[in-house]
Amino acid sequence: MLLSAFALLMFLLWSLSLMVLVDRQNQQNAASYRQNLHGQILQLQQKQQLWLQSQHYLLNTLVESPGGDSKFQSFLWDYYQRNPSIWAVNLIEFDPDGNPVSRSSKPGCRQPGQLHRSNFDDYLVPVITSCRIDDKALLEIAGPVTTEGNARVLLLSMDYFDFLSEFSALSGRRLQRAADFEGGVQYHEFGLNDGDLVRVVLPIGETSSVFGEIHLGVKPMSFWELFELQSVIVLTVLVAAVVLVLLLLHFNLIRPLLDLAEKMQFAANSQQQSAGEGRAEVRPGLQVMQDAFHVLQKMAKRDPVTGLNNRVIFEDRLLQAIREGKRSGRRYALVLIDVQGLDSFAWQRGQYIVDALLRQVADGLRESLRESDHVARFERNLFALLLEVQQRDQLNTLVEKIYLSVVRPYQVFGREFELNAFFGVALYPEHAADADVLYQHASDAVVKAEHSEWPIQYFRDADDVTDTTGFSMIQSLRSAIDNEELKLMYQPVVDLKSYQTVYLEALLRWRDPDKHDLPIEQTIRLAEQNHLIKPLTNWIFETACRFVSESGIEGLAVGINLSMIDLHDRRLPERIETQLRRYQVRPSQIVIEITEGQIMQDPKEVIEVLAHLGVMGLSLSIDDFGTGQASLTYLKELPVEKLKIDQSFVRDMATNPDDQLIVRATIELAHTLDLKVVAEGVETLVACDLLSEMDCDHVQGYYISHPLEAKQVATWFETSVKPDLVRKGR
Ligand code: C2E
Ligand code: MG
Ligand code: MG
Repeated sequence: MLLSAFALLMFLLWSLSLMVLVDRQNQQNAASYRQNLHGQILQLQQKQQLWLQSQHYLLNTLVESPGGDSKFQSFLWDYYQRNPSIWAVNLIEFDPDGNPVSRSSKPGCRQPGQLHRSNFDDYLVPVITSCRIDDKALLEIAGPVTTEGNARVLLLSMDYFDFLSEFSALSGRRLQRAADFEGGVQYHEFGLNDGDLVRVVLPIGETSSVFGEIHLGVKPMSFWELFELQSVIVLTVLVAAVVLVLLLLHFNLIRPLLDLAEKMQFAANSQQQSAGEGRAEVRPGLQVMQDAFHVLQKMAKRDPVTGLNNRVIFEDRLLQAIREGKRSGRRYALVLIDVQGLDSFAWQRGQYIVDALLRQVADGLRESLRESDHVARFERNLFALLLEVQQRDQLNTLVEKIYLSVVRPYQVFGREFELNAFFGVALYPEHAADADVLYQHASDAVVKAEHSEWPIQYFRDADDVTDTTGFSMIQSLRSAIDNEELKLMYQPVVDLKSYQTVYLEALLRWRDPDKHDLPIEQTIRLAEQNHLIKPLTNWIFETACRFVSESGIEGLAVGINLSMIDLHDRRLPERIETQLRRYQVRPSQIVIEITEGQIMQDPKEVIEVLAHLGVMGLSLSIDDFGTGQASLTYLKELPVEKLKIDQSFVRDMATNPDDQLIVRATIELAHTLDLKVVAEGVETLVACDLLSEMDCDHVQGYYISHPLEAKQVATWFETSVKPDLVRKGR
C-alpha cells in the first residue's frame, strides 16, 4: 500500500518534471530556430545569387535578341503557365533613382494573398526569388508554403532545364550541359556554343525542379514525445538497477544463505544417519533450525582470534561457579588481565602481529591453568580467569606464575616482542558474594595495578600484595643495565691461617643507592621474574672480569653469585668463557657461588651445568649453607670446593650455643667431604676466634671488611696480608 502510494507520487513528480522540460525545450527550440532561419536564408541566398546572376544574364540576352521584348513577355507567360509550382511573378518597375514605382501582378499570378507577403518582403522576395531584369524592372518569384508536421516549409521551385531549353528555343542559341560537383554541391554548367563562350554555373538541388527549401518553423515537442523518450531511458535504468540489486542479493545474501542451509541440512542428515543407521525418515525442519541455532550459539561463545571463550560464556561459568560455591563452599578468584602494548604494536607492525601475540598469550594462559579453571578473552586486551582457590596461600604463587606466562618475550615471525600486563584479582566469597560485584572489584583492582608500582593487585586485601615497590624497579633495572647505573663492590674472603685474601666476592649495588631503597636480593628476584637476569649476569661477569684484568693483582680471584635461572641456561658456560677470553682471566680466578636451595630445586639440570663449569676450571662454592636441605649425595657429585656457612648461624654464634653447634658440625662435615669452609657474616673478633678454634678455613664479614669499592681493592691488598690488622678489625 505504502509502496504503491510512493510509486504514484514518484510518477506524478516525473510527469510534472516532463512538462517543465517540454516547455523549456520548446522555448530553446524557438530561440535556436530564429538563428537557424536566418542562417538558412543566407545559405540559400548565396546559392540563389549564382542562379539569379545567370538567369539575369540569360534574360538580358533574351531581351536584347531581335524582337526581344515581346519574346520576353511571351516567354514569361508561357513559362509560368507551365510551372504551376511558381505562384507569383511580379515585375517591378523602378524609377531612374532605382526606387520601385509599381508592383503589379502580372498574368499568371495566382492566389497572391497566400504568399505571406510580410515574410517575403522581409526576407525572400527582394533577394531570393527576385531578379532585376534591367535597371527598371525586378522579377519576383515565390513558391508555395507546405506543411511538414507542424513546420512550414517554403518550396522554391524552378525547373532550370525547362527554363533554359525555353530560353534556347527563343533566343536561337544552343546550350550544352555538363554536370559537376564542386565543394559537395552539384552544379550544372552551361556554355553558349556561338563561339564567345560564356560559362553559366548553376547550383541545383537533388532534382532540377526543387531549388531549395527553407524551414519556416520548428515542430514543438509534445509531452508524450518526451514521455516516450524518457520512458525508454527510465525503463532501461530501472531494469539495470533491478539486475544489479538482484546480483548483489544473490552473492551477499542468497548464496551464503543457501550454503548455510545446505550445510545445516548436511549436518542434520549426518547426525541423523549416525543416530540410527538406515533410517530414511527426514528430520523435521524445526530440528534442523535448532541444530543451526546451537552451532550459531557455539560460534557466539568463541573469541575468533584466540579460540578462547568469550565474555558471554565466561559470565555464565562465573555464575555457575558462584552457585556451586554457595552450595559446596568452594572458593574462587576472578583475575582480570589487561595486556599492555598491543595497540602500539598494531599501529607499528600491523594487526596480524597483534593477533599472533594474542594467540600466544592465550596459549600461555591455557597452559598455566588447571582443569577446574576457566579463561576467556573479553575484549581487545582484556582477558579473564576464574581460578578455583584450593589453598589461599598458594594463590599468590599461582597468579605470579600466570603473570610470568604473560609478561615474557614473544617470538612472532622471527621478531621478539615483550608484553606488559596488569592483573586485578578479586576473591569469592571474601570480596563479594555475587558475580557483578566480584567483577567490579576485579576491575577496580586492575585499575589500581595500572596506577601502582606492582602489576598484580588484589582487591582490598593489602596483605596479598607480594611487593608494592617492585614494579617501578623493573623499569629502573631495565634501563640500569643499559645505562651503567649499577656497580659491583668486592668483599674479601680471607684465609684464617695465612690471612691471605682467598677471593673477593662481587656484590651488586646501585650506583646511586638513594634512588633505590629495595634490598639487592629483592632487586635480583625481580630481575629473575622479569627475564632480566641473563643480561644482568652477563653484565656482572663482564664487569668482574674487566676488574680482575685491570687490577693488575697477580692471582686475584673473584666470587660471582649466580641465580637459579642462570643455572638453567645451557649456554652459561659458553657465555662465561667468552668473557674470560675477552679479559684474559684464568678460570681458576673465578669462584662461582650458588645457594644450597638453588641446587635442590632442580638438581639434575643444575649438576650438569655446574659440572661443565667445573670442567672449565672454575671453582664452585655452596652459598648460604645450612638454610636449605642439600643432599650430601648431590654435594658429592658436584665439583664443589667450598661451603659457605650461612651468616645467620655465624652472626650469633658467640651467644647461641645451637648456632655454634651447627657451625662446628658443618665445618667437620665439610672437611670430611674434603671441602674448604667459609664462614660469612663474621662481625666480631669473638666470632673470628671461635671459627679459628673450630678449624674454619676462611672468613668473610664486616669484621674483616665491608664490601669495597673497586678502587679500594688495591689498598686492601697492600695491607691485608698483615695478620694483626685482621685481628684488630677494620
Ligand atoms: P650472599 O651471596 O650471601 O652475600 C653476602 C651478603 O651478606 C651480602 O649482602 C653482604 O653485603 C652481606 N654481608 C657480608 N658480610 C656481612 C656481615 O658481616 N654482616 C651482615 N649482616 N651482612 C654481611 P648483599 O650484598 O646485600 O647481598 C645479598 C644477597 O644478594 C647475596 O647474598 C646474594 O645472594 C645476592 N647477590 C648480591 N650480589 C649479587 C649478584 O651480583 N648476583 C646475584 N645473583 N646475587 C647477588
Ligand atoms: Mg654469595
Ligand atoms: Mg650468603
